[in-house]
Amino acid sequence: MVARITIDEQNFIKNAKNVIKDNKVMAVVKNDAYHFGLEFAVKSFIQAGIQSFSTTSLHEAVRIREIDKQVNIFLMNPSIEFETLKAHNIAMTLPSLTFYHEHLEDLAGVKLHLELENLLHRSGLKDQDEMLQVLKHNENLPIAEQAIIEGIWTHFGYADEFGGDEYETERQAWIDCLSFILDHGYAFKFIHAQNSASYVREDGLFNQHTHARLGIILYGSRPYSTLPTTLTEQNFTVTANVIQVRPIKKGETCGYSFQYTADKDCNIAVVDIGYGDGILKTRAKHDALINQKRYPIRGLMMSHMFVEVDDTIQSGDQVVMYSNDIRIDEFTFKGVGANSEQISALNHHSLIKEIR
Ligand SMILES: *Cc1c(COP(=O)(O)O)cnc(C)c1O
Repeated sequence: MVARITIDEQNFIKNAKNVIKDNKVMAVVKNDAYHFGLEFAVKSFIQAGIQSFSTTSLHEAVRIREIDKQVNIFLMNPSIEFETLKAHNIAMTLPSLTFYHEHLEDLAGVKLHLELENLLHRSGLKDQDEMLQVLKHNENLPIAEQAIIEGIWTHFGYADEFGGDEYETERQAWIDCLSFILDHGYAFKFIHAQNSASYVREDGLFNQHTHARLGIILYGSRPYSTLPTTLTEQNFTVTANVIQVRPIKKGETCGYSFQYTADKDCNIAVVDIGYGDGILKTRAKHDALINQKRYPIRGLMMSHMFVEVDDTIQSGDQVVMYSNDIRIDEFTFKGVGANSEQISALNHHSLIKEIR
């Protein structure tokens, strides 16, 4: 009996295929592929037909190249390890005009995607004029000194927000900027902007774009709450076990510092998973699934949890914390934390990880 994460590989691949349909997709595999494991995710996505990958760290980009010699790799953060980028055929964002001028000589032969800063203000060129300035400056250099500007992109910070008009604003700013640059006669092998939320909202890929840059929806969670669960299937489970069931009387307490005081005589199941395994405190305000029925969690400790159960539950019963019937995204929309936050918290060193 041990708590574990189980990933269903074939269903994971099948789900990715269903999500991408006929669209070209760049899979975001940052942070060890949303904690699914970089190698597992890259290989699975390749089987689902994806040929382009992006991440935020150079060491992950290099690992992707070690997994596959052919795929396109895009580094969303800047790096000044230009030789490593070239040696592994990794393209990189251009994070600012200052960066371009500062590293002009070293950028020779480096593949770049021009980034538009937009509302997120995290990185990128300020506007279309800065983009044009870089393009013109670069094309006037001798060929051997030129950067290879093969892409143009932006990131939407508000695609999963409804109610305000921020998404419309950032979307329009991007479309205007892109049209301006394309109207000046420039062409790009990679034009990408949409994350999962934008991809779903727009019902597929924008015109003129070569790729949607998808993360969370490929891993089985909905990017916002009004979508049906059929949109994407969660193909991993986090399960634990009932170690024992203990009757407690009305008024008795359980857990450290009187975490829970029973308001009636009840049965408390002691379960072998806790915050040390990555179960968030906010998640423990909700239910666990035992034998197809939901029961309230009453206390969370480092390696244990208390769940209030009925007479049908016995030691040895399996306790499901996450599955396609009790999904990560359900708790996201209940305010537990972002999809990626719940997934990232899981402790892959204490839980047994199984791919089947
Ligand atoms: C994480 C990330 C994505 C993917 O976002 P999802 O909402 O998971 O689809 C896309 N682009 C950038 C720049 C990111 O950092």
